Amino acid sequence: MQYPEPIAKLIDSYMRLPGIGEKTAVRLAFFTIDMDKEDVSEFSKALVSAKSDLHYCSLCGNITESDPCVICADKTRDQQQVIVVEQVKDVMAFEKLRDYHGLYHVLHGVLSPSEGIGPEDINVKGLIRRLQANPEIKEVILATNATPEGEATAMYISRLIKPAGIKTTRLAHGLAVGSDIEYADEMTLFKAVEGRQEI
Ligand SMILES: [Zn+2]
Repeated sequence: MQYPEPIAKLIDSYMRLPGIGEKTAVRLAFFTIDMDKEDVSEFSKALVSAKSDLHYCSLCGNITESDPCVICADKTRDQQQVIVVEQVKDVMAFEKLRDYHGLYHVLHGVLSPSEGIGPEDINVKGLIRRLQANPEIKEVILATNATPEGEATAMYISRLIKPAGIKTTRLAHGLAVGSDIEYADEMTLFKAVEGRQEI
């Protein structure tokens, strides 16, 4: 038996989400059908709004409703430090640390020659532009993941900006090799920032 088309479409939509197989998608689809009309309407509005009302900050690349984002716009934050991360989720991880009050820069990826991802495919140019426009930035903390791609990206950026006399540091390896920032607990992240070393 085939599902009526609206259900089949819904199942298909759920299956496009990461980690959701057919069985779960079917369960979610039937759950959705049983939901209140209002709840379904709210849910669909949230999906559309997340896509249409959010964009990337033109300064740091963080996801935001306003441009510049609230972090870039907050002049009470320490304007001398910038943490460079791979993805927006990493910003959220560092924001949980009460001890960090500096700025961020989101690369939206890492260098990966095997996947054909070069410097022009990630937000490096934006970082260089920012550093040139803001001489008050004194330190760039390279917080890419402890993966080979993350390390290579950190080295690349460090070589690029060091000649400009900006201090470049790398997170300490309290983070396990191959581990992702987004999954690190607060204490580990705090120690990684505290123990950062100049590269
Ligand atoms: Zn921003």
